[in-house]
Amino acid sequence: FAKLRAGLSRSSEKLGDNLSSVFTKSKLDDAMLEEIEEALIAADLGPAMAARVSAKLAAEKYDKAVTEAEVRQVVADEIEKVLRPVAKPLEVVAFPRPQTVLVVGVNGSGKTTTIAKLAHLFQEQDYRVMLAAGDTFRAAAIEQLQVWGGRIGAPVISSKVGADAAGLAYESLEKARSGGFDALIIDTAGRLQNKQGLMDELAKVKRVLSKLMLSAPHDVVLVLDATTGQNALNQIEVFREVAGVTGLVMTKLDGTARGGVLVAAAERFKLPIHAVGVGETIDDLRPFDPKAFAEALAG
Ligand code: GDP
Repeated sequence: FAKLRAGLSRSSEKLGDNLSSVFTKSKLDDAMLEEIEEALIAADLGPAMAARVSAKLAAEKYDKAVTEAEVRQVVADEIEKVLRPVAKPLEVVAFPRPQTVLVVGVNGSGKTTTIAKLAHLFQEQDYRVMLAAGDTFRAAAIEQLQVWGGRIGAPVISSKVGADAAGLAYESLEKARSGGFDALIIDTAGRLQNKQGLMDELAKVKRVLSKLMLSAPHDVVLVLDATTGQNALNQIEVFREVAGVTGLVMTKLDGTARGGVLVAAAERFKLPIHAVGVGETIDDLRPFDPKAFAEALAG
């Protein structure tokens, strides 16, 4: 929790800076409510959240004295209300085996790192995890996953650069199944420049996996980079369409003032949020805790 709080400190500070300039008057009036709404929108929390906080404050405190701490408490409560229903840490379920997790997202979002962190999280629960270097387009991505696999002691199925990603996915599921692995985590390409190409590739990967195992892939996890702010919302839209996303992980919350965008994403898409990344090391993935997140963000 300390790490999450530290990670979100920039987002929280930004919200604080935006809010403190509001408290120039002693009593809550329309102008102040409007400024509070603007502060929340500037902190990437989204217009719906801003409107709700404003309505709640108006109902409780109109024409009365109100402090920044009170406003922050209302914000924290409202954030938690939005996040609680979507908080769903990614778990290895009892059946079927292996649980197949397809990880999607644009290049640079933190996919490879998140895969390693997730695998590590599963390993800590005594599950055996296999990785597949399904971003066959980028040599660096294949190498990086191999390095991570070596570090955490998870086998990595890979192919030559340019090989068919679906073929590799098929092979990895076969191996994970015959080897009795509990989970298989598959990396994918993230070339959003060629949306149709990416859509075709991901559809094919999913098709071959389900050929081998009807329920696979069990999870399609979209990795989002918090530093891209509102852009994360567009990425959700696109990847929902091209990959049928079932849940989200947001990375780099430690290096940005834009953590509020996760709340806007929850509000708009209502997709499960599995975990958040708060650093570059293997332990820097936190199962998503709505209360801790709301408190860290609202300060
Ligand atoms: P990919 O291209 O999507 O596979 O992205 P990578 O996993 O290679 O990550 C891109 C960069 O982001 C690397 O330098 C990672 O160390 C860094 N990164 C990933 N997750 C986090 C995070 O939660 N916090 C920080 N600060 N950096 C991260």
